Amino acid sequence: MTEHNQVTVGAAELGDLATRLSPGALTTDPDVIAAHATDEALFCPHEGSIALVRATSAGDVQEVMRFASAHRIPVVPQGARSGISGGANGSPGAILLNVSRMTDVLSINEAERLVTVQPGIINQDLKDHLAPFGLSYPPDPGSVALSSIGGNIATNAGGLCCVKYGVTRDYVRSLQVVLADGTLTTLGPQTAKGVAGLDMRHLFIGSEGTLGIVVEATLRLIPALPDPFTAVATFPDERTGLQTVADFMAAGGVPSILEFLDSSSLKMLNEFGDFGLDADAGSMLIMQVDQNPADSEAVMAKFAEVAESCGALDVAYSDDPADSAALIAARRMIQPAYEKFANAHGGGQLLDDVCLPRTAVPEFCDRLGELRESSGLVISLVAHAGDGNTHPSVFFDASDADQTAKAEGVFAEIMRIGLELGGTITGEHGVGYLKRDWLQHELDEGSRRIQLAVKNALDPLGILNPGKMLSAI
Ligand SMILES: Cc1cc2nc3c(=O)[nH]c(=O)nc-3n(C[C@H](O)[C@H](O)[C@H](O)COP(=O)(O)OP(=O)(O)OC[C@H]3O[C@@H](n4cnc5c(N)ncnc54)[C@H](O)[C@@H]3O)c2cc1C
Repeated sequence: MTEHNQVTVGAAELGDLATRLSPGALTTDPDVIAAHATDEALFCPHEGSIALVRATSAGDVQEVMRFASAHRIPVVPQGARSGISGGANGSPGAILLNVSRMTDVLSINEAERLVTVQPGIINQDLKDHLAPFGLSYPPDPGSVALSSIGGNIATNAGGLCCVKYGVTRDYVRSLQVVLADGTLTTLGPQTAKGVAGLDMRHLFIGSEGTLGIVVEATLRLIPALPDPFTAVATFPDERTGLQTVADFMAAGGVPSILEFLDSSSLKMLNEFGDFGLDADAGSMLIMQVDQNPADSEAVMAKFAEVAESCGALDVAYSDDPADSAALIAARRMIQPAYEKFANAHGGGQLLDDVCLPRTAVPEFCDRLGELRESSGLVISLVAHAGDGNTHPSVFFDASDADQTAKAEGVFAEIMRIGLELGGTITGEHGVGYLKRDWLQHELDEGSRRIQLAVKNALDPLGILNPGKMLSAI
């Protein structure tokens, strides 16, 4: 890949840039830069950035990219910094280009069911804004209340309801992006169909800030979702829970959410808060369906039948929206619960994101069990099980070098097992810095060549988020 050949910039050049940006947008205060230099990932470098720009307009973003191109300095695009792969982390000599102040809803087109937003709007704020119009934007990452739409687009974020409603990519109608040289361009038509030229819009979705900066997005909406029915099933062990998922989906089940929690996750959740979950269960499934009441009842009955035939200890369901909300809220608390456990055991947690064919998840779970035994480390598992997207977490004492090295080895082995079973190293969290060395193991030679050709064509100076996603292929 093209190396950026940085021209030294000092206070005078940055001061000059500041005069061309919205007032107060640029700071070189080291404390403020440091406070904005990390996302939520552990063990990813983040030092060395020289400025932070909090853009309030596409014009600010264009100015920064023109400046960065002229001086050949790296730029790290940032949304809400909720990422867990180090993708938004600072890097040496870089400008942190944060768009989280660009939060406007620019227009809602009810007739076409489209909304146009700035990239910094938080996903949940958009959902709340749309509710009075009877419209819904389905993608719902676990970080729905933390993460921005621009970040969701840059990582092609998934979440709980993907099993029925798909991922961020499925809702992006068109994008405005700023390219490496500062050019502002629109990618994708406003229409439902469109095949005029190469599909550049989808190239940018999931590109993790390595091809350009999203400054505006027009998103496809659907009518507001009906209140769901929610079922909870507990199992004596992990395998029976996961077998239920495979059998239920094979039987034609269409859940809107189907989440799996293993026994250690249930224990950590119960230690974190009073969610009324069965702490002694070997695993749990939370299944939601949002069809009309009669059809939802039928799906619940089918789910119960499959779960019981797989050996469920208990299956219950509710059509009360408050019960559904409480269960999903409990599921969304898993990461804080993990953090509490990690903090009490030396602070280390490596969160993985291997997505597998659904039918391979039971074997994957067995292999995690073997890793637990051979490493002696606590390894928990939650999964968006309906689409095979697993999130194993490896816990360790981060002050113990041997244990840290062992945990990193286990983390890598989890990805290796995932690839062996036909999966991918990342279903939704992205490559970022954390998995950059692993991308080469997943992509074949031809694919790596195309990826680098695209990167070099769009970012010939190599200034967009260097050292991250494509830097080790
Ligand atoms: C508790 C928790 C739960 C989570 N659950 C999920 C989940 O269920 N599903 C899921 O997919 N993710 C999940 N995540 C990960 C994270 O929230 C997502 O990756 C999210 O999409 C990141 O959005 P952000 O605004 O925080 O982006 P950031 O973290 O700021 O950036 C993420 C990446 O996108 C790039 N980027 C950001 N904004 C732009 C832009 N405007 N233009 C170009 N590039 C940009 C950055 O350079 C970086 O590479 C979770 C994170 C946490 C902390």
